[in-house]
Amino acid sequence: MLVHMTLDLLVPSRCSGCGRSGPACCSSCLRVFGPPSRLSVPGVGPPVWALAAYGGVARELVLAFKERGARALAAWFGALVAAALVSVGPAPWVLVPAPSRSAAARERGGDHMVRIARAAQIASVAPLLSFAAGVADSVGLGPGARRRNVDGRILVCGRPPPGTVVVLDDVVTTGATAAACVRALRSSGVRAKAVLALTSARPWG
Ligand SMILES: [Zn+2]
Repeated sequence: MLVHMTLDLLVPSRCSGCGRSGPACCSSCLRVFGPPSRLSVPGVGPPVWALAAYGGVARELVLAFKERGARALAAWFGALVAAALVSVGPAPWVLVPAPSRSAAARERGGDHMVRIARAAQIASVAPLLSFAAGVADSVGLGPGARRRNVDGRILVCGRPPPGTVVVLDDVVTTGATAAACVRALRSSGVRAKAVLALTSARPWG
């Protein structure tokens, strides 16, 4: 008890969404993530689902996890992904994390989408995808430039175990990365049944 109190004093835990002291994500911030909503994203192929609009608290939580080292959030995002999988297809599920640029992944101490996929626990995780050299950060790029940035530049290494293959990403914006992931898998003979994103920067609702 005393040890816990001392640790709490040394490292006060705060919600990464609203800053309130308490767990890494408080219950009111967790509520911005709903059941999966199906998005209209032309050109991807399989259905694309997201759990929240990319803005406000949802955006804060994604950025805290992805850019600011709030690794504890993997447990929350993993639980949300696990709960969403029943809506996107039948078990057994195979999560294929969207790739991270390797420099970005190294800065973050590992691939953030793989960590979330593993935290989902009820699915197999098949980290098959990586970016070829030369893929830039897509922030600030328009739709055409995003597509050119990733098209044909996603590498597939290995094969997933049998099951419902779901591509997992953090933010769907133009759908360019999701489409490139689906196409890369298809060219290796793997059919993705769905894309599941934590958030969507597309019009919502
Ligand atoms: Zn909060």
